[in-house]
Amino acid sequence: MKTLPFILLLLMPVFALTQSNFHKTVLLNGTASCEEAVVVFPLLNDTVRIDASCWLQFDTTTAGRKLFYCCVKDEQSRLYNLNDESIDAVLKISVPDTVFYSHLHATKICPVCHKDNQVIPLIYGKPGKQLLLQQEKGEIKLAGCIVSKNSPGLFCKRDQLEF
Ligand SMILES: [Zn+2]
Repeated sequence: MKTLPFILLLLMPVFALTQSNFHKTVLLNGTASCEEAVVVFPLLNDTVRIDASCWLQFDTTTAGRKLFYCCVKDEQSRLYNLNDESIDAVLKISVPDTVFYSHLHATKICPVCHKDNQVIPLIYGKPGKQLLLQQEKGEIKLAGCIVSKNSPGLFCKRDQLEF
């Protein structure tokens, strides 16, 4: 049985004077080391390292910042989508969250648009003619040769999201 480090994720609204700049503050706390923890924004291809004080503040008014997950070493939490859920309290999240991802991959429903009609498989490895043709038709997406146990398996063409 692998160890399951738990991370407490605290999201607090921080209002600027005008209240127009709404931010979320992420506080990572718990048994996992913050030195190894990052927050990933998959829609922006952006990864932000949690600093040594375990705080991270980011602007959730940017659409791409509303979807994120936490990574510790090469293991990841579930995806959080602030368009669908309001997070204003302490969250206890687990890394890795294999239940979340196996459900996501079984249903093939995109976590952003909640539809499956633009979701195609990601294919790893050196492609042959057949796969290149399928990619041209938009039936699959070639994802390169490097694959790990946490590599995404699906791609939503609507949201350009790998998950
Ligand atoms: Zn989608």
